[in-house]
Amino acid sequence: MGVKAQRWIVMSDLDGSLLDHHTYAYDAALPALSALKDAQIPLVLNTSKTRSECQNLAKQLGLLAPIIVENGGGISLPIRPANGDPYGHTADVEFPEDLFISLGVSRESIHRVLDEIATCRSLRYRSFAQMSLDELRDRTGLDEAGAINAQLRQVSEPLLWEDSAEALAWFTKRLQRKGLTLTQGGRFYTVSGKHNKGGALHWVRSFFHSLWHMPVHILALGDGPNDLSMLEAADQAICVRSPVHPPLEGPQGVYSTTHLEGPSGWNDSLLNFLNEIKTDTSLEGLIGDETNFLSEDLRMTV
Ligand SMILES: [Mg+2]
Repeated sequence: MGVKAQRWIVMSDLDGSLLDHHTYAYDAALPALSALKDAQIPLVLNTSKTRSECQNLAKQLGLLAPIIVENGGGISLPIRPANGDPYGHTADVEFPEDLFISLGVSRESIHRVLDEIATCRSLRYRSFAQMSLDELRDRTGLDEAGAINAQLRQVSEPLLWEDSAEALAWFTKRLQRKGLTLTQGGRFYTVSGKHNKGGALHWVRSFFHSLWHMPVHILALGDGPNDLSMLEAADQAICVRSPVHPPLEGPQGVYSTTHLEGPSGWNDSLLNFLNEIKTDTSLEGLIGDETNFLSEDLRMTV
């Protein structure tokens, strides 16, 4: 694939999209992952997981690219060595040091607000911070390492609600008054600042734009309601078919959906996309020559 492909970034949700909803396996996506690597198109993960949870996966996948974590609350930006690989893929086994760019409210500030609200009314819930490692493992089914990584949150606090619906509505209003928001997930509610995956997409687009000195196009893939802001903000969006969610609907209607579920659909739709941009000649003349593209800026360290 030629230089044109460098203008694209692929951004993906993890659970239910690149990772199988039930098993968390990504084997079915290996052909497309390998094709992305050959095309030198960076894959940017955009997930509700924590930075620690994602870095293990990035290591396994050989990714050297920004990772959007905690639903757009922060970005882990790996620091590349001087003259290192351009962002995208790496043969390094170790994930390098990173900068953490916060787009949200710190977990400490969230805890302060929760403490303040608790002085007004006693509510029944269990937050991750209140749980021991054993309790967290029991409640989530995670193994010990997984539970430790899930605890290492920076800009959000999940909690298990054990109080009434009326209390939940009261709590939600109190949080909103303090500039926080409560999002319902599969098992937990999450308290965080008012960020989302789509806002973080714009940050990543600007970052690559200034790095490459050319317009950046983003293809986004996701399967759940928390992916909508990312799909809406992307240049092309693919809704990965989910065994548990109905196809997502945006302002323009239902997103184009893969026929296969999870990583199999992810793989198919990405291979199709790569074929399309390989044969698309409409961008000729806009790219500049390769010498220009491989400027010093590409090799700069962050
Ligand atoms: Mg998902």
